[in-house]
Amino acid sequence: MGGAIKSNFPAGPLREVSIGVLNMSKISIRVLGANTEVGRSAIMIQAGDRRILMDYGLKLVPKKEPLYPEEVDDVDAVILSHAHVDHSGAIPTLFRKRDDVPIYGVDITGDLMELLLYDSIKVAKRRGYHLRYGPKEVRKALENYRSIEYRVPFRIGNVRVTAYNAGHIPGSAMFRLEFDGFSILYTGDFNLRRSRLVPPADVNMPKVDLLITESTYAFREHPPREGQERLLKRIVLETMKRGGLSVIAGFAIGRLAEISLVLSDLNMKFFLDGMAKKSARITEEYRDRVRNFREFRRAMEATVFVKNWKVRRKIVNKPSVVLTTSGMLEGGPVHFYLKEKHEDERSSITLTGYQIEGTEGRKLLETGEMTIDEENVEVNMRVSQLNFSAHASRSNLLELIKLVSPDMVVPVHGEETERFAKEIKETFDIASVSLEDPYEEIRI
Ligand SMILES: [Zn+2]
Ligand SMILES: [Zn+2]
Repeated sequence: MGGAIKSNFPAGPLREVSIGVLNMSKISIRVLGANTEVGRSAIMIQAGDRRILMDYGLKLVPKKEPLYPEEVDDVDAVILSHAHVDHSGAIPTLFRKRDDVPIYGVDITGDLMELLLYDSIKVAKRRGYHLRYGPKEVRKALENYRSIEYRVPFRIGNVRVTAYNAGHIPGSAMFRLEFDGFSILYTGDFNLRRSRLVPPADVNMPKVDLLITESTYAFREHPPREGQERLLKRIVLETMKRGGLSVIAGFAIGRLAEISLVLSDLNMKFFLDGMAKKSARITEEYRDRVRNFREFRRAMEATVFVKNWKVRRKIVNKPSVVLTTSGMLEGGPVHFYLKEKHEDERSSITLTGYQIEGTEGRKLLETGEMTIDEENVEVNMRVSQLNFSAHASRSNLLELIKLVSPDMVVPVHGEETERFAKEIKETFDIASVSLEDPYEEIRI
């Protein structure tokens, strides 16, 4: 593998998309990635003479080269909604030719981004794919990181920018941009529901003119969280009673901390393995970024961090609970536990979120089998899938539109953005469009 990667986007001249509002010709918007998909989020907003990039992410495709958003180099600033790789993973590529592009985000986001970007380099090396940057570019990106605070406006040229808590993971933010009397809200990933880990999104804000919103679950609701929590606890307790190992797989940033908080109700010890350990240590340093720091600390006190192979081997030899990565079973320590226990009917493996097509997690759900160390194995453990999503549900998305009453909406970060735009137009009588490719441009 390796070598040059071609852009998947059709090349061509800019095409102006009219949605029939104003005509100030001072602001232009292009969606450079995640137009009609989840992954590689990137939105270019030109306001006056400033070019601001909202997120610059990477789409990790199972067993393939990662996909990048459309390339840009003349950027004045990056605004980062949160650390997840689909929002931050392409940022270092901006530093291949330049040393000075300021990146604005909430404090903890910088540290979590550091963790994820260095991990991406390691993963790329292991899987043999070509990442378009190395440690040097990551270091430059980190040097350019500037921490901002929720609700404290700052300026990029004549653009006034305000961050609001997005309720997705610690440090996640929605950004309101104001320029020449026109306002834009970019949501990044957000959640209006309360979670154990972070408070719900702060949407107490004035009306916006243009809303650019994620739309991952535009046509789906999430099951009530209380039910999912009860199910999780039941799986853990029943597995222990059978004398098995309860393996719980989830994302390192946000998800496994949420699961730790749920399990802390059970007053028992459990193990945490993989990158989630570092992510938890970082989160401990930012007490303001979690909903209830005392609860978080208590959950961490009940958590035993797996330090080495000796501990791992001990864990598989007695009834235990282990929370680990990767969330879609693509690699990481979860493979060790599954390799050891896949034949054991007393043990269980619980997936805590959606499994993308092509991942080992999806394969396990559909076939009861998966590949570990290049070997196909039948998994006899009890397999379950729960929904601990930290994204806005369909009703959350519709609620946000009502709350900020925009004059136009551009849905991004979803597989059915066009269908959703059409629905918004019909339901709310609001101009709404999904930009099909990075050469379409909205001018305001
Ligand atoms: Zn995210
Ligand atoms: Zn995302």
